[in-house]
Amino acid sequence: MYLTHLECTACGLRHDAKELQNLCTACSKPLFPRYDLPGLERVWKRDSLATREKSLWRYREVLPLARDAEPVSLGEGGTPLLPAKRFGAALGLSELWIKDESQNPTQSFKARGMAVAVSMAKQLGATKLAVPTAGNAGGALAAYAARAGLEAHIFMPADTPRANMIECRELGAHVTLIDGLITDCGAEIGRRKAAEGWFEMSTLKEPYRVEGKKTLGYELAEQLHWQLPDVVLYPTGGGTGLIGMWKAFDEMETLGWIGSKRPRMFSIQATGCAPIVRAFAAGEQSAPEFPDAHTVASGLRVPKAVGDFLMLRILRESGGGALTIDDAEMISITREVGANEGIFVAPEGAACFAALRSLCASGTISRDERVVIFNTGSGIKYLEAYTL
Ligand SMILES: *Cc1c(COP(=O)(O)O)cnc(C)c1O
Ligand SMILES: [Zn+2]
Repeated sequence: MYLTHLECTACGLRHDAKELQNLCTACSKPLFPRYDLPGLERVWKRDSLATREKSLWRYREVLPLARDAEPVSLGEGGTPLLPAKRFGAALGLSELWIKDESQNPTQSFKARGMAVAVSMAKQLGATKLAVPTAGNAGGALAAYAARAGLEAHIFMPADTPRANMIECRELGAHVTLIDGLITDCGAEIGRRKAAEGWFEMSTLKEPYRVEGKKTLGYELAEQLHWQLPDVVLYPTGGGTGLIGMWKAFDEMETLGWIGSKRPRMFSIQATGCAPIVRAFAAGEQSAPEFPDAHTVASGLRVPKAVGDFLMLRILRESGGGALTIDDAEMISITREVGANEGIFVAPEGAACFAALRSLCASGTISRDERVVIFNTGSGIKYLEAYTL
């Protein structure tokens, strides 16, 4: 076990990792798990990965779970990095890749975060887990809580895609529909959690979902033979994957696995909900709540993110950017991706393909750059968004 403590991402205050924690007790910002990386660097070589299982647990040394604890697992992670030859060639790109996260349990990359967070919640003694969700996080929590023998209490907007609601219910979760947005769902949990004895699993409001999602960064580096790509396009809601990948890059550099080169990171959001894009353009350090948030890409319908300042810092440090795509464009490009690459992408993933086209047209991305798009979920969960 190399986990040493939790550290506040804003004020640096240390917190005990042997207890259940949510936000920093001093400043209410997210906590990051920290590891004895110098100690690990001496004993853990990247070549040792070759013979390990194809799941995110292959990076066990940089995951927080105790060495003798059995992970709560459904086979998450280890997703393919697929070349998108036809779509890439049509844009004149020499190298375009899709990290296809729809192949995770519950068909989205939320499985990564929840596998690790539920494993930790169980280890630390939580019994009732609550989450506000725009869609896929609910399904993932329901699945892993069931697997762990814990209760799941899920709060989702009443207009969440039907597949997400039914999935949660059939996985045995307690589902409450809220007439509002994910922020209203979070507020309801905040009001009731003390009385109900719920542990809140909202992303970045507990320290371990980001650890599951950081394995995106480890996998990307390993699958590209330890050469990070030039550009990453990431459909951004709460930003946990973006923040997690950046953490993974720093950890891998400390471990001596990669050099100091980083990809340019781009956040893609929906025109109807673009707090990060707006704050990035305005040169702000944090992102105010986006009013009247609406988009069919439910994973992007996050009007206010607790990790906003971390995302904005990463986008700037990496020399990347942020742009919006409207719903109609997400839906229309889905078939182009599907027909050319054989993947029915989620609207969130589709938004990245549309963004790529615009970034190529403007010359922001050049043809010789190596580009990776994250398809974070499956179109199958969003059937209402498509007409027959
Ligand atoms: C949650 C979600 C996102 C956004 O992920 P974050 O890491 O919270 O920004 C993107 N796509 C899908 C399909 C999602 O479920
Ligand atoms: Zn703090």
